[in-house]
Amino acid sequence: MKKIAVITSGGDAPGMNACIRAIVLTAYQHGMEVIGFRHGFRGIVEDLNQPLHPNDMRLVSQRGGTILLSSRYPEFKQVSAAKAAAQVLDAHGIGALVVIGGDGSFRGAHHLNQHWYGQVIGVPGTIDNDLAGTDTTIGFTTAVDTAMEAIDRIRETAEAMARVFVIEVMGRHAGFIGLHAAIAGSAEGMLVPELEPQPKLAEIADNIKRARSAFPDSSYIVVVSENLWPGGVSQLAKELTQATGTTCHAAPLGHIQRGGRPNAQDRILSMQLGQAAVHAIIDGASGHMIGVEQGHVVEVPIHLTFERDKPLDLRLVNLQRGLQQLNFASKVG
Ligand code: ATP
Repeated sequence: MKKIAVITSGGDAPGMNACIRAIVLTAYQHGMEVIGFRHGFRGIVEDLNQPLHPNDMRLVSQRGGTILLSSRYPEFKQVSAAKAAAQVLDAHGIGALVVIGGDGSFRGAHHLNQHWYGQVIGVPGTIDNDLAGTDTTIGFTTAVDTAMEAIDRIRETAEAMARVFVIEVMGRHAGFIGLHAAIAGSAEGMLVPELEPQPKLAEIADNIKRARSAFPDSSYIVVVSENLWPGGVSQLAKELTQATGTTCHAAPLGHIQRGGRPNAQDRILSMQLGQAAVHAIIDGASGHMIGVEQGHVVEVPIHLTFERDKPLDLRLVNLQRGLQQLNFASKVG
């Protein structure tokens, strides 16, 4: 009987548990045993193993976070750590490892693949959606839903008080959550890292001033990606308050975007990718990510997922830019 191991690594993402469930059920269906290691790569090196049986999977798909726990473990970049992990995996008689995580985790998977004879398969699990070779990643759409709901709530109070808000969303160094949340939340402004050159403070302030003089009873929301403005949105709000003469409020959404029950789309994606990961192992694949492109499951060499940039969808960028302008025109018109 072939033994498969699973880890969740890096930032947790809603849907990881549904993916674990699909891996476990599919593996057992094919006569394979599954073992998990808690806390990502650290858990392999420290042998924090946990058998995973179909009976344990009955109520996990609905839950956010990860039942296998995760961690940041930069030590795994060392060759000695990869070799230590290979020894632990061999000692358990494991033939294949599934790594559910983001680009850092996939660098780790690629690294391990060079120091271990077993098969290594990646499944994209990150709210940031910043992996090339897959249209979407586990947790992304749930995070966008959460950000949108938070923006809607801020919108109601902002509208009641005619306030300006700068709302910070997650994404690490990518603007996918920012772009999607800005569109879904009907934001008047959006700052995401991919759109160079970034607007200057004076330009953002000018847009706010023009909107407010034309329609003083209205709210105004700018969605800003994390790690974009030096000092974060609190600093941006201070600078805008000075530049506009209007109090601008900062609202960093933070980790609420990572938690929560996965939405239906993420659960379905997770199960589709989890099942496909086991099928890929049966077919002998290694060093590949299982992703999805235009509704079809695809296998992509894992190094290409983090060596290439994943661009924002320009049609969506133009949609937001157009609507921002129309929104403003309708206010001044
Ligand atoms: P997210 O972006 O959603 O937080 P991630 O997988 O990118 O997820 P990281 O913290 O960047 O999160 O990476 C997860 C883990 O992968 C690291 O803690 C480390 O154990 C391992 N890792 C990252 N980069 C490398 C690398 N270059 N070589 C080996 N292992 C790595």
